Amino acid sequence: MNPSPILSRLVELSRTLGRPDWDCVLLGEGNTSARVEEESFYVKASGAQMRTAGEEGYVRVRFAPVLELLGSEAGSDEAVTAALTAAAIEPPGMRPSVETMMHAYLLSCRLTGDEQGINFVGHTHPTAINALTCSQRGEELALGGRMTPEEIAFCGPRTCWVPYSDPGLGLARAVREAVETYVEECSAFPRMLLVQNHGLIIPGRTAEEVETSTQIAVKAAQTLLGTMAFGGPHFLPPEEVDRICTRPDEALRLRKMGWKE
Ligand SMILES: [Zn+2]
Repeated sequence: MNPSPILSRLVELSRTLGRPDWDCVLLGEGNTSARVEEESFYVKASGAQMRTAGEEGYVRVRFAPVLELLGSEAGSDEAVTAALTAAAIEPPGMRPSVETMMHAYLLSCRLTGDEQGINFVGHTHPTAINALTCSQRGEELALGGRMTPEEIAFCGPRTCWVPYSDPGLGLARAVREAVETYVEECSAFPRMLLVQNHGLIIPGRTAEEVETSTQIAVKAAQTLLGTMAFGGPHFLPPEEVDRICTRPDEALRLRKMGWKE
């Protein structure tokens, strides 16, 4: 894809995630990104609103200076500002989102044998998700298991839990650590990340994946909240989760939904 259709799809994705009835973001909350090619990606500009921003609300950024900072020992606000300034390509004078480092990391991820990799990332602060991530039992319940076949199919067999970290570089490094552990343990890339006291991150091969998995993740959090009125959740046993992951009709359903599995 050349840059223009990618940017217009990114704007559409952001506006969808920003719909008031989705209850995922308010005002300038949340951010989205899309990989253009090996060298660069688009990310929401700092302060732009997902619900209303057009193409002018996105900055094209080079991967190299951002990934270099992420891999270094540097951590000062000045180092972050210098890297983001060096990375921003166009439009001139626009500052990319503070979460640009997290987006750069996820968009640069490739699993062995996965040619397509991650092309879109959606990060939001849904109320139902944050009821969970901000709760005393957030980590325990988020990692407790899956409750429905849809949750397994669209959000993966397990959630990738990211402990709270300072937004920006700290979050990007915490996400990297959590993803590396997840990939090692699950031999798969996470489809859904929950950041403690912060929100939801969905990495996707396509924008549709990000939209669908965001909806399913939010619905699962609402369901979990509802189960608390009926004695707490009944998580599916691990063998049922494995079964859904390998069923041919589930794979077909995912392909029909636009997933390139
Ligand atoms: Zn956030």
